[in-house]
Amino acid sequence: MRKIEHIGIAVKNLEAANEVFAALFDEEHYKVEKVESEGVSTSFFQVGPNKIELLEGTHPDSPISKFIEKRGEGIHHIAFDVEDIEAEIARLQAKGFRVLNETPKPGADGKVVAFLHPKSSNGVLVELCMDRRKY
Ligand code: ZN
Repeated sequence: MRKIEHIGIAVKNLEAANEVFAALFDEEHYKVEKVESEGVSTSFFQVGPNKIELLEGTHPDSPISKFIEKRGEGIHHIAFDVEDIEAEIARLQAKGFRVLNETPKPGADGKVVAFLHPKSSNGVLVELCMDRRKY
């Protein structure tokens, strides 16, 4: 893994949260994107070299809506930038991590992604993230 690619924050209302975080960062979000397959609307902020993703569920059964129902709003996942997502999946599985999707899937902001179950990483939902054009 090369670096933290972004931090994902679950929010109830994306529009309202966009205003809060724009005020916090003194910078508007640079993109809003719906990922229908994941049941989320996302927005992205660039903060210096770092990226923050806000996520709102698009329906009550989406994983984000369920997360908020159980644990409230807040930090949802940490995404790490990887050079070769398939090699990382294989490496982590060999070490006993539970990969939620063995086949990388399209994520927001031009990425392909895979998630590790938080139970295998001390309660942290880990997202592996690779530029889609390299896939
Ligand atoms: Zn993410």
